[in-house]
Amino acid sequence: MRKAKDNTHVPTRYFRPDLERCPLCGAKRKRRVTAQDKILITLAGRFRLISRGYGCSRRRCPNARALWVSPEPARLSLKGLSFGFDVIVQIGWWRFWEHRTLDEIWTLARSRFPISRRQVMYLIVDFLCLLKAAQPARIENHRSFYARRGLLLSLDAMQPEKGNDVLYMVRELRTGLTLQAVKVSSQGAETIRVRVLKPVQALGFPVRGIVSDAEDAIHRACQKVWPGRPHHACHFHALRDAGKPIYEADQSQMVKIKHDLRLKLSPVRRAIQALDETDPTRAVLLDYAEALRSCLRISGVAPFQLGGVRIMEDLRAVTASLRRCEKNNRISYCVIC
Ligand SMILES: [Zn+2]
Repeated sequence: MRKAKDNTHVPTRYFRPDLERCPLCGAKRKRRVTAQDKILITLAGRFRLISRGYGCSRRRCPNARALWVSPEPARLSLKGLSFGFDVIVQIGWWRFWEHRTLDEIWTLARSRFPISRRQVMYLIVDFLCLLKAAQPARIENHRSFYARRGLLLSLDAMQPEKGNDVLYMVRELRTGLTLQAVKVSSQGAETIRVRVLKPVQALGFPVRGIVSDAEDAIHRACQKVWPGRPHHACHFHALRDAGKPIYEADQSQMVKIKHDLRLKLSPVRRAIQALDETDPTRAVLLDYAEALRSCLRISGVAPFQLGGVRIMEDLRAVTASLRRCEKNNRISYCVIC
């Protein structure tokens, strides 16, 4: 059963406007309504927020219908929401900057203030809404820079699974600011032009150049909206595609080497373990076997980290080390071969 929060000992804070007298007629203010009365949860604690609304006390004053309230409650939270902005931002930080899971966030939040798991979920959505609402202000901060130097745009598309919607992102490269992010169901040039590029064009800044992957639909859409603008293929995508044949050859080589190594390693390890425990070479050889086994954990990342090449290098290093040992007559590695 849902347990009601106990708010009996929560302190009360009153908020009133600064105006003591009417700015038009100079008459005293008069209390009219209670604009807000709610329990507000902030990182600093819980309190009952009461915001009083006032008006001019003179009935025939032109200001008689105006309602004056303190601006402070609006700085603390959204109207109708019982969590402060600081709580929403903290939850957003845990989720999107520290990449914590819903349950981790709930545990952290619960240790500081009363909150349900579902409420955490709602606040994550509220955080995203606030972020989106703040976007025009962030663009506005860079207005003079963009107007003077123009935009260098990067356009990227992400599709979590085939057949799903595609997320398009347009970023300004020098400031790193996202100018447009939108989910669309079609990857056609016309959809990209209308849903992705038009809103960026509507900002009214000159575009100096565009970088994107070498997708034909994106190129066509960009040339329609900003004809003649230089459009580069993204270096990362180009390098990754150019390196694909080498990377694939390396991957298959790596699988073969690992397979061979795994087959040979088990009997060798058994042979070493069978050695007399007092034999000083036993521990050394076991270390070598462990070094060889760690090669099995190596993997590659396209385009530059080639796993097969890395394993070969490591195996050569182990071989050289074993040869040095043999040369110094400290160990005979024929057990391993
Ligand atoms: Zn008045």
